[in-house]
Amino acid sequence: MAGRNEILCQVYQEPLKLFCKDDEALVCMVCVKSGEHKDHRILFLEEVSPEYKEKFAIFLDMLKKERDRIVKQVTGEKRQMVTNFRELHSLLEKQENRLVAQLEEVEEEVGRNRDQHLIKFSEALSSVDSLIQEVKEKCQQPPTELLQGARSLLQRCEGKPKFRNPVRFSLALKWKIWETSNPNPNFGG
Ligand SMILES: [Zn+2]
Ligand SMILES: [Zn+2]
Repeated sequence: MAGRNEILCQVYQEPLKLFCKDDEALVCMVCVKSGEHKDHRILFLEEVSPEYKEKFAIFLDMLKKERDRIVKQVTGEKRQMVTNFRELHSLLEKQENRLVAQLEEVEEEVGRNRDQHLIKFSEALSSVDSLIQEVKEKCQQPPTELLQGARSLLQRCEGKPKFRNPVRFSLALKWKIWETSNPNPNFGG
């Protein structure tokens, strides 16, 4: 009968009390008698287990050392990653500051351009307004006054240069805007 901790042979249902050193497998008495393990070294479990215990202990030690090595490597790499991240972060910060400064510069320039643009509009408008006023007044005048200087007024009306929408942004400014929105990918510039 099999004891509490005994494992039975799957073939013969006998307790596996022996160990075949050549197959490194548990075997039962019937297995051994069957001739399957002819010329193999058959040992009692108690006899052979210390040797394997020792082998396992050596492997355990090796595995622990390997584990330590991995842990150290991971720690080192983590530290390196933190350093790399900090460097990248500071580069990006510099780049950001540079771009913000550039953007502010462009914004200022756009503002100046817009002001100049509006001044040109209002100048053109007031010049047309004053001419309109002049012509209106001329129309109200009696014939003599109406005809006096009529030619020069007509010339001024005809010769009034057509108001042309000024170019909103200079080419240089456009280029600057383009540069700011498409920053050069090299850092540290
Ligand atoms: Zn067996
Ligand atoms: Zn064997």
